[in-house]
Amino acid sequence: MHYATSVLDLIGNTPLVKLNRITEGIAATILVKVEYLNPGGSAKDRIAERIIDAAERNGSLKPGGTIVEPTSGNTGVGLALVAQQRGYRCVFVCPDKVSDDKINVLKAYGAEVVVTPTSVTPEDPESYYSVSDRLAREIPGAFKPDQYSNPNGPASHYATTGPEIWADTAGRITHFVAGVGTGGTITGTGRYLKEVSEGRVRVIGADPEGSIYSGGSGRPYLTEGVGEDMWPDAYDRTIPDEILSATDAESFDITRRLAREEGLLLGGSSGLAVACALKAAQNLTADDVVVVLLPDSGRGYLGKIFNDEWMKSYGFLPSQCPDEPGHEAR
Ligand code: PMP
Repeated sequence: MHYATSVLDLIGNTPLVKLNRITEGIAATILVKVEYLNPGGSAKDRIAERIIDAAERNGSLKPGGTIVEPTSGNTGVGLALVAQQRGYRCVFVCPDKVSDDKINVLKAYGAEVVVTPTSVTPEDPESYYSVSDRLAREIPGAFKPDQYSNPNGPASHYATTGPEIWADTAGRITHFVAGVGTGGTITGTGRYLKEVSEGRVRVIGADPEGSIYSGGSGRPYLTEGVGEDMWPDAYDRTIPDEILSATDAESFDITRRLAREEGLLLGGSSGLAVACALKAAQNLTADDVVVVLLPDSGRGYLGKIFNDEWMKSYGFLPSQCPDEPGHEAR
């Protein structure tokens, strides 16, 4: 018989898929690492498992304890999966820009969710950082993983994502592109790939325009899970060789094209990463192999990026509307 002994055994070992149509005119090979194939539907399953293992080992999480975390959804799902298997309670704090779909997923896994306003500073007592700190103090037996500073986040990508990419490309990868949120993915995966390739792999961060990683002021943008208005400890800024940015409009356009042209239904941060990879690949040659990490699925964004009315309300859609004269249907 061939089976996983628990859903946790299904974390990691996600496949690489070559992009064929959206890459027209580009000489380099563009491979995407499809992280929505993790059991919780995102790359965050990897960090959740390693963070909880470490907290159990060092005693900060005891039997019957509660996990409290500010999360835009995916980390919550990963933590909820592992917590559920091991008997912990979960309380998650989400900013109100996070889609209802994502919040309902957390609740479906048995977690409790507290929603806070997006348009306040991190220091504000109502911010999602402040509220989660307060809950972690008030709830007895609470453990706050703090994905923004926990070294086990980047460590999980160093131990799994990086080696998987190196093995699957037989060491031929030349460029690695990933969105930057907490910075854990790019820091851990990037560090491994640079070490194993003796500095040959070029690491490129993808950032929504407006976020500080690409020199913005931290002004709001709509792409979820990426960009920041402060510098997290999980992010080692010496790892990326370059940070590229894309607007919400560019990222969402590519997100929709990935579904229609490549059969990959992905979230907006995946569109961002591919948009930046396509910019980086303009001058590359047929010898180059670019690996782009795609964090999650489009299922959580059906009411937003894949909803024409929502897209039109932000003025994102005209160039994609096939009914309008003068606009080419894609
Ligand atoms: N995309 C999505 C949808 C995410 O939830 C996250 C995590 N915040 C990221 C990208 C960025 O990953 P990281 O936190 O490792 O930088």
